[in-house]
Amino acid sequence: MDWNKKDFFLHERKKRKTRINLTHPPRLLLIVITICQNKHNLPIKKRTINNSKSVGICEIGLDYHYEDTDKEIQRMVFNRQLEIAEKFNKPVVVHSRDSIGETYNILSKYNLKGSIHCYSGSLEMAKLFIKLGYKLGVGGIITFKNAKNIKEVVKNVDLSYILLETDSPYLSPEPYRGSENNPSNIPVIAESIASIKGVTNIDVARVTTANAEEVFDFL
Ligand SMILES: [Zn+2]
Repeated sequence: MDWNKKDFFLHERKKRKTRINLTHPPRLLLIVITICQNKHNLPIKKRTINNSKSVGICEIGLDYHYEDTDKEIQRMVFNRQLEIAEKFNKPVVVHSRDSIGETYNILSKYNLKGSIHCYSGSLEMAKLFIKLGYKLGVGGIITFKNAKNIKEVVKNVDLSYILLETDSPYLSPEPYRGSENNPSNIPVIAESIASIKGVTNIDVARVTTANAEEVFDFL
């Protein structure tokens, strides 16, 4: 029942702190909807979501990693968040852990675009998400020796479906694995993708930037 566990909040707080510590405040924001158990208490204000700097809703999704999680509540909150995204026509950044099939089934009920962040599923599922209109977020895991799934996905999926991301402060790429991650590691991830796909770093930077602009309507 208690899936709103302490470590989840610590995780989120740490992430938020990282965002706030940016030397230059971001020009654009991703709205963070705090996941909570009460459907009447989704802390989202129309004014916030309609702000011109708000380009998407994140991180929302399903996390079935912990055994004591209440899947029913997670599904209910996820659906509610997707309804809000659809209503305000905002893209979503989706978290999916040990729940890829169900994440897909729920997303397929909505007319949305966005990114499946830190994608770790199979190539087959990747193709289904792409068909649904989603990009695949690729982070530091791509540089890990044993990350077979994501390497196979990156190799076989067109660059136009890939976004670069950090999941900061987690998942630092090699050779920085274990230290706090930050956006300056993005080029390391780009290099890894470039070598897998046999293209240049510049190609990866150019195409993935265009992909992000397309999803979040940065222009
Ligand atoms: Zn996540």
